Amino acid sequence: MKDLIQLQSIDRSIIEKKSYLKMPHNLPVLNEEDPIVDLYKYGKKHLDKIKASYSAAQSELDQINKALSSAGGFKSKIRTNVEYQTYKEKLELLSHKRSVLADRVKDLAQKMTEEMIGLSKLEERITENNKSSDSATAKYIARIESLKSDVADLYRKRRIIVQVMDNAIYELYMSLINCCEGLVVVEAMDRVCKGCHLIMPRDVYLNVLSLARIEHCPNCMRILYHHNHLM
Ligand SMILES: [Zn+2]
Repeated sequence: MKDLIQLQSIDRSIIEKKSYLKMPHNLPVLNEEDPIVDLYKYGKKHLDKIKASYSAAQSELDQINKALSSAGGFKSKIRTNVEYQTYKEKLELLSHKRSVLADRVKDLAQKMTEEMIGLSKLEERITENNKSSDSATAKYIARIESLKSDVADLYRKRRIIVQVMDNAIYELYMSLINCCEGLVVVEAMDRVCKGCHLIMPRDVYLNVLSLARIEHCPNCMRILYHHNHLM
């Protein structure tokens, strides 16, 4: 009887582990549509635009600075009042443009720094997310591998039990396994079958107690045992 109960416990354990292995599991992989990744991509594009505007403004500023520094050469060639007036106006215009552009370059440099800080923070978050996703995947794979090895161990134990078990009893057990939903051997306690909870006739219970022969519950057909048989 002990062998039969042990066999049943192994079989139930195999079924439970195999059903977990067959279940569809969602692997925690990095989602390409992760909102943080999207935000990062958007920020990077925005930064590229700011960089382009910054270098355009900077090169324009360089040209104006060049024009202003070469203005001295023109001054020596001025002959008339009109020429002087034109020279003065041009100088004022360039100075004004330079001041506007210098402000713009400064402003764009500031925006570029802010955007880069924002992006580096997002990068950190993405790296952290990837790390936790990697460790969750590793844990999941380890769990599956350990379950597979458990199942292999259980099958080994099962083979050993079946080898020493009476063949007729094993066949009886196997013939009942499907109709009894995997619970073939059940305890009879104070004449109650623990499989279907019905009270059995006294003579059946006495047979169970004495182990005179293999007894079945008259209602659910499960094989009955008494807890004394386990001692
Ligand atoms: Zn029963």
